[in-house]
Amino acid sequence: MTSATPASVTVRAPAKINLHLGVGAPRADGFHPLLTVYHAIGIYDDVTVRPADSWSLALEPAPYVDAADVPLGDDNIVFRAATLLAGLHGRPAHAEVVIRKDIPVAGGMAGGSADAAAALVALDRLWGVETSDEDLFRLAAELGSDVPFALMGGNALGTGRGEVVESVRGGDVTRWWVVVTAHEGLSTPSVYRHFDALRPDASAQPAPPHRLVAFLADPVEAIAGLLHNDLQDAALDLRPELRDVLAAGERAGALAGIVSGSGPTCVFLCGSGDHAREVAAGLDGAGEVVLTANGPVAGAHLVDY
Ligand code: ATP
Repeated sequence: MTSATPASVTVRAPAKINLHLGVGAPRADGFHPLLTVYHAIGIYDDVTVRPADSWSLALEPAPYVDAADVPLGDDNIVFRAATLLAGLHGRPAHAEVVIRKDIPVAGGMAGGSADAAAALVALDRLWGVETSDEDLFRLAAELGSDVPFALMGGNALGTGRGEVVESVRGGDVTRWWVVVTAHEGLSTPSVYRHFDALRPDASAQPAPPHRLVAFLADPVEAIAGLLHNDLQDAALDLRPELRDVLAAGERAGALAGIVSGSGPTCVFLCGSGDHAREVAAGLDGAGEVVLTANGPVAGAHLVDY
């Protein structure tokens, strides 16, 4: 049975933070092996797709999002996602696409990956092609290391180069965060290059975050001391003012603060929604924008069609 083509489909996908980001020495293919604990938080991009006879892409950034560096042509990861999905089903990649962007660009929160995951799910529905989960995750991994997690959401252990994801405990325990974005993004490849210069002795396999994973469903104090990011020193070297942001978070009473992924966004763990709002007030002016968000939240999901 084939159903009628929807007039539009909107899929929402979350930003990620890494509660633990262990990075190893680069592999022969140039990628770094990762052992990471992903955590999806409630800052989202929405991808809306409509039927069309050709391809078009538009961006609607939130007022605080600087989207000047987001390509609108073939380099946009959403176009690459559409091309892969269309190729799998032997059909043209035709759609009118709008990305409503609330996830800071080049912020270490995998906004592009969220868009790619949302686009796969939205176009699958628009085109009525009923892609299997196995194929969706395979295409996601081809698009980028963080894309499978953006499909999955929740809390997950990421291995390989981050693309092999497995759900872990704590999915039903809400954590509260303050998110401080920076005025200017950091390029992920440049942070990894700097990591290689700082850590020429990095082992081939990063240490596994056993303790953090064991405590993921425990009271917040149990995980506060276990947040860890191997890329943090590299990000702080490239952007020394982030040290001030981390110190300000500590002064404002956060339980812990780390650079998110490759930065420059900093995230602060809080004990409750009220505590997060207090810490956010104390951090007012520390970065481009100060947001509160909770996690873990769902991966790419349909919100309207
Ligand atoms: P990651 O940590 O996953 O590398 P990030 O969160 O630091 O990513 P993104 O916002 O995903 O950074 O964007 C990284 C770069 O990808 C941007 O500077 C931009 O040039 C390019 N890009 C391509 N498509 C998109 C998209 N849909 N949204 C954002 N950036 C995109």
